[in-house]
Amino acid sequence: MLVTFLGCGDGFSVLQGHNSALFEFDETNLCIDFPESNHLGLHRLGMQLNQIENIFITHLHEDHINGLQKLALFHRVYPGKTKPKLFVPAGLKDDLWQCLRHGLELTTRGKLAFEDYFDIVCVEERFMIAGFTFELVQTLHVPEMLSYGIVCKPHFYFSGDTRLEERFILDVAGEVRTIYHECHMQDDHLPSHTSLDELLTLPEAVQEKLILMHYVDDYLDWGTREEFHAKHKVRLAEPLVRYD
Ligand SMILES: [Zn+2]
Ligand SMILES: [Zn+2]
Repeated sequence: MLVTFLGCGDGFSVLQGHNSALFEFDETNLCIDFPESNHLGLHRLGMQLNQIENIFITHLHEDHINGLQKLALFHRVYPGKTKPKLFVPAGLKDDLWQCLRHGLELTTRGKLAFEDYFDIVCVEERFMIAGFTFELVQTLHVPEMLSYGIVCKPHFYFSGDTRLEERFILDVAGEVRTIYHECHMQDDHLPSHTSLDELLTLPEAVQEKLILMHYVDDYLDWGTREEFHAKHKVRLAEPLVRYD
């Protein structure tokens, strides 16, 4: 399994792509979330939008879904090997179509449905791709908003957008090698995100498993990253680098 961040930026990021990770397996791939900035990220990897075969959506904030309309239209105009399969938490499916339908429903060939663009798999608890099992974990992002992370044992936990759930992180750290965790790196604390200060209170053995994502543009510069890495055990996700 190869992992590449197509973007690691937060919702207001200008210079980095918004947060999204591409997992590549022998025969297929999976993208977690699909912001519009993925188009450029994929282009830089030498890939086309129609090569994306599976997508999982963590929640409906626009920086996580605003590339889906383009992806859907691109696949219709330039069909890839397969119609894209969209794994969507069951409770998000109808609302996701409401976000997308204004640009997808009416076409020159008549009215189309969500299912005309994607093979939709409503996920209750888990789904499988290429022999790997991905379990949904509900996260604490915004009160009453459905939002999810994913555990793929024994490989990784991917937090999506969330506040820190310390008990869960301590438990899951015993079951996976890597934890991709969102991190609001600025000094102000946001009630819907996890701050660096909070992550630095975790035991060192857990911090060593942490790769931070969904962070502000201030850390793009090589020198700033080096300085950060010299000071901390946690690591910053590096965009467009293929990790094994
Ligand atoms: Zn976000
Ligand atoms: Zn969000």
